[in-house]
Amino acid sequence: MNDASGSNIPVLDAEEILAGIRRWVEIESPSHDAAAVNRLVDTVEGDLRRIGAKVVRTPGRDGFGDVLEAHSPWGNEAEKGILILGHLDTVHPIGALETTHRFRREDDKVFGPGIYDMKAGSFMGFYAMQHFVRTGRTTPLPVRIMYIPEEEVGSPTSRVRIEAAARNAKYVLVLEPARDGNKCVTARKGVGRFVMRITGKAAHSGARHEDGRSAIREAARQILEIEAMTDYATGVTTNVGLVSGGSGVNVVPAHCEMEIDLRVPTAELAESMTARILGLRAQDPDCVVEVTGGMNRPPYGKDEGIAKLFEHARGLAQEIGYDLQDVKLTGGGSDGNFTAAMGVPTLDGLGADGRGPHALDEQIRYSSLVPNTQLIVRLLETLR
Ligand SMILES: [Zn+2]
Repeated sequence: MNDASGSNIPVLDAEEILAGIRRWVEIESPSHDAAAVNRLVDTVEGDLRRIGAKVVRTPGRDGFGDVLEAHSPWGNEAEKGILILGHLDTVHPIGALETTHRFRREDDKVFGPGIYDMKAGSFMGFYAMQHFVRTGRTTPLPVRIMYIPEEEVGSPTSRVRIEAAARNAKYVLVLEPARDGNKCVTARKGVGRFVMRITGKAAHSGARHEDGRSAIREAARQILEIEAMTDYATGVTTNVGLVSGGSGVNVVPAHCEMEIDLRVPTAELAESMTARILGLRAQDPDCVVEVTGGMNRPPYGKDEGIAKLFEHARGLAQEIGYDLQDVKLTGGGSDGNFTAAMGVPTLDGLGADGRGPHALDEQIRYSSLVPNTQLIVRLLETLR
């Protein structure tokens, strides 16, 4: 593509960006299907090698796909630089592309499985790096881009690599979706995950009811206690999202198990709420309650470094022609939680604008592709 002046400097081309996003979207990649995720990793690795990036691919483990790390063709590998984070997995099952989430464009809306969260953003990061290669320019700081294969399940296998990369970073840019009218993200709640196992005593529900101790009745009391920990004023929420138990309708249930999700805005609340949940005890002395788990992602707060990075991005967006705002606090976690908690200035939500993450109407706004990619390019160009 040539720009309007007829020179040979490539411009950011919305059609080309969308075509690239489509290629990545049409390789379906649910987190738990390592072979499927790795088919997309193959494509992304090929794209990165084609532009001369130095690629390190680490084989996946525990049933997840491979982790990709790429260093810009320019810059010193030992020098602290800019880390760009994206993920290649989605929450959508294979076949969504043919049924619920057909790739299609309707005016400014473009639909597809995982297009908003976050294949559009992931591709835009690649496209920005490619832009520098095409224009023969470099950036003051070396740029590393990392593609995570299992972010949607909390990045259990790639967290250590993300943190190692962040130790070598001055800034982290996370290409998760923009939201609420193209806002970026400067604070996220921390996420805790717990499992509670309750053991009672089985008995015939007719003949020997009095001998039984119902694990489900105990669970019911525990659920009310856990859910009562939610406090919208402080931003703490608890959710018992999965419950299973019992062995038959005529058996006093001896077992019940549930999974608990905790969201907290601060490190202090992370600690105190974790202690409260791990400290839960049986209310029926004849039942046994056992709780395991802890914080999965630490809270990501808008500290001074993040505020400065945001103001810088805001100034760049102004030049591009829009007013960049930030979401005050979102309950959703991302890999940015890890890097922000390490004290590395982290700006998140720099991907495409749109709506419906994980939902049936998941979509991006076509008109956000060029300005938001331009912002990534400008950040890479100006951060030092
Ligand atoms: Zn995401």
